[in-house]
Amino acid sequence: MSFYNDVYQQYAEFDFAGFLGSRTPADVREVLAKEHLQPADYLTLLAPAAAGFLEEMAQKAHTLTLKNFGRVIFLFTPLYLSDFCVNRCAYCSFNAGNKFARTKLTLEQVEEEARAIAATGMRDILILTGESRQHNPVAYIKDCVGILKKHFASVCIEVYPLDEEEYRELVAAGVDGLTMFQEVYDPRVYARYHRGPKSNYHYRLDAPERSCRAGMRTVGVGALLGLAGWRREAFFTGLHAAYLQRKFWDVQVSISLPRLRPSIGGFQPEHPVDDKSFVQILLAHRLFLPRAGITISTRESPAFRDNILPLGVTKMSAGSSTRVGGYAHPDGAAPQFEISDPRSVMEIQQLLLKKGYQPVFEDWQQWDSLEKQLCS
Ligand code: SF4
Repeated sequence: MSFYNDVYQQYAEFDFAGFLGSRTPADVREVLAKEHLQPADYLTLLAPAAAGFLEEMAQKAHTLTLKNFGRVIFLFTPLYLSDFCVNRCAYCSFNAGNKFARTKLTLEQVEEEARAIAATGMRDILILTGESRQHNPVAYIKDCVGILKKHFASVCIEVYPLDEEEYRELVAAGVDGLTMFQEVYDPRVYARYHRGPKSNYHYRLDAPERSCRAGMRTVGVGALLGLAGWRREAFFTGLHAAYLQRKFWDVQVSISLPRLRPSIGGFQPEHPVDDKSFVQILLAHRLFLPRAGITISTRESPAFRDNILPLGVTKMSAGSSTRVGGYAHPDGAAPQFEISDPRSVMEIQQLLLKKGYQPVFEDWQQWDSLEKQLCS
């Protein structure tokens, strides 16, 4: 039993082009009148015919988001622990073939970064490493989590895929969430972009499920927009999130929409996603999955992030650096990719308040730390 066997294979040979091209405005209107969407409805909202209904989709998406999440936006910051990587993903600066001075934080430097981030008020952190079991073993990640738990209510990971038992160890160490972008759901396209251990498509695809079984509280999935045709990729991303929601009812499932950004090596996406298409994906996700979180990162520009805020967004990164050690030393190591929104945590907070949203820094506290606070 897996997403690939249970769901993906049902659509692996589906005639996407034929279906998408056959959808009419009447089909879109019919979907918009429904309360619960099936996969075919969702695909209809990703079709060219739905591009003429973005306003109607936006109104419905806004209403559904208010109903399920209220006017709150959760804030988080990424923390890069190490840029050592053995893979050669064409689109990433950390690609093992790129020549630059690699860095890995010592535990003292992790503490220094944690203090710099915590000083902004941030309580939710996402830690990232390149894929190198030699440089970034699970034991190292665990040690870093031990330090970060002193400063943050929630520590999530976006690291290479692990075995279920390893996820269990990290959960026991205090990790409560996982983000795992599949990058590309189409296995043929996936094989073109990935060299090294990451070329194991199925091991990566099953990682969110392994992490849920290991006890993660939150899990996020996504496709890297730009690598393959967005309609098919968005469809499988949504089906993956729906599958996880169905199977792990107590796990908070979210979707991210990372668009490719400039990186070392000058990779140019074959399938760039423009702003209008990005909005269509966001709206279709919200309408298909009313209860799923939707994360928008600093890959997007300030003006664009401000505009799409009411369309279904529930979580944003803020004050981000994609450099190892970039909070205490902003001009140090090479960034994984260039960010688009350089605003500080304070600026994002002010923006949210101005737009009538409540910025939330902490939506979760582990019982042991809550107990300590209550009894102190
Ligand atoms: S995307 Fe991840 S695995 Fe690929 S080169 Fe970058 S850090 Fe390594």
